[in-house]
Amino acid sequence: MCDSHACPLRDARTKLVFGAGNANADLMFVGEAPGAMEDQQGLPFVGRAGKLLDELLLEVGIQRSDVFITNVICCRPPGNRDPLPDEIEACKPYLYRKIELIEPKIICTLGNFATKLLTGNPTGITRVHGRPQEREAGGHVVRLFPIFHPAAALRTDSIKQLLREDFAKLPGLLAEYAEQQQDEEARAGEIEQLGLFQ
Ligand code: URA
Repeated sequence: MCDSHACPLRDARTKLVFGAGNANADLMFVGEAPGAMEDQQGLPFVGRAGKLLDELLLEVGIQRSDVFITNVICCRPPGNRDPLPDEIEACKPYLYRKIELIEPKIICTLGNFATKLLTGNPTGITRVHGRPQEREAGGHVVRLFPIFHPAAALRTDSIKQLLREDFAKLPGLLAEYAEQQQDEEARAGEIEQLGLFQ
């Protein structure tokens, strides 16, 4: 992918970080960009921010192997600077294609870059975190759940607390989705049975 399109970061990175996890996940996390460890290993969230992500997942009883984790851009910006608009534009189609193929029901956007891109709204994470929003992405409706980026939580304790509180809402959101699915399946079954008696 980044090897075959005009990625401005192609020559600066070591490894492309496509994303990793369950390709049938109901829950997807979208971070910002790979850091130094990710660039070395070709895997997302394997550095300090990743350790915190692992800890928070464990606390709410979600296995990392059950979710899919990716980023707004697939290549590390030099010196971990913020991604530039042309870098985001170049990688955007690949992010949407991942969403289209995996079909997550809930997407946790980690921090400002993922949140602004996927909500299509410039409102920052401080104002929107912890509140789900329905959006169209990758050809279907998903529930976006914006939360703070774990790297920001590592820098500021009060953000870590807010991130922890938002994480605690995730099992409930997943359960709500599972209930909706069951209701829809039950309704489809009733309609099929009615058909048998007509
Ligand atoms: N920060 C991110 O946004 N993504 C990673 O993969 C690692 C750190």
